[in-house]
Amino acid sequence: MLSPRNLLLSCLCASFITSALQAQDDQPVFVFRNSIENITGDLYRASNGAWHSIFLVTDEGIILADPLNTDFAEWLKGELDTRFDVPVRYVIYSHSHFDHAAGATAFADTATIVAHERVLLNMDGRYPHMPGDMIDRNANGMVDREEIEIPTNADPGICGMFPGWFDQIDLDHDGIVPPAELQVDILPPDLTYSERMTLSLGGKTIELMHPGKNHGDDMTVVLFPDERVVFATDMIADALVREDIRSVPSACGPLDGTPIAEWIRSYEAVLALDFDIFAGGHGAFFSKAEVALPVEYLKDLQAAVSNGLARGMSLEQMKEQILLEEYADWAYYDRLRPKTIEAAYRNLVQFRF
Ligand SMILES: [Zn+2]
Repeated sequence: MLSPRNLLLSCLCASFITSALQAQDDQPVFVFRNSIENITGDLYRASNGAWHSIFLVTDEGIILADPLNTDFAEWLKGELDTRFDVPVRYVIYSHSHFDHAAGATAFADTATIVAHERVLLNMDGRYPHMPGDMIDRNANGMVDREEIEIPTNADPGICGMFPGWFDQIDLDHDGIVPPAELQVDILPPDLTYSERMTLSLGGKTIELMHPGKNHGDDMTVVLFPDERVVFATDMIADALVREDIRSVPSACGPLDGTPIAEWIRSYEAVLALDFDIFAGGHGAFFSKAEVALPVEYLKDLQAAVSNGLARGMSLEQMKEQILLEEYADWAYYDRLRPKTIEAAYRNLVQFRF
């Protein structure tokens, strides 16, 4: 049974992302079936519905990336104990967002928690970097109801969270959520890095890379060189992606507050890695050729909107005239094409790239 707290921690992710949009009759359907599947060799994907983690089994223990949430992590610990009989030695966070980083307490007695150094900054009591355009609009350092409801109501199923989520994170029901209350299920990292880090365990070596900012400002990409597999979350394949990587990006809050040029650079940094399989935090397994497609979308979006700005087009003109026709068969094209144009417009005006 899921506790209400962890049901919500699971859902939060879901809402804002949506199984909902893909459900029939516009009724959200949240299915959080837990599963484990082999990727290759001793590398596995563990899933809580559409949220995926990854783990590598060695003789000396397990390296796990993203515990997802407390209930899932406790379930996973039981499965790992039963199946492999070695402890989890490392837990890596793909980034600090609550719907991927929560739950490491289940492994804390044996594992070192590893993350990019900015994860600590996002857990220092200040309003953290948040997904889905949930930002500190009144600059009081607290999560207020309207800061969740504004993006939730503006882009249902895409940005913000699901209706009622604020009441679930407001554990003491005082109408305001300090960052520590939001992050109560996230353990801070024990070990951090800035650009790259290598971890070795049981004769295996993996590489951590901070690709730069995109969806978050504290992202870690994990490369499993022997398996030729890359793990990255909420970037390249965002939470809307399922079987096909060809999905228009959700583009919340002018692209999560990161310059679009930085998004492109960071995606290209992943493409430059030596791998065959992209096994991300959302979506199916994708080839390197498929990983190149979201990069092309961002480049074409940037070029088209930059060109529009140079020609003095208004935002409304751009939304009408920049059709990005080559992406017309991508998921969410009708709904999100104008939104990504607006996001890129605001992004390019703000950052002047
Ligand atoms: Zn995220």
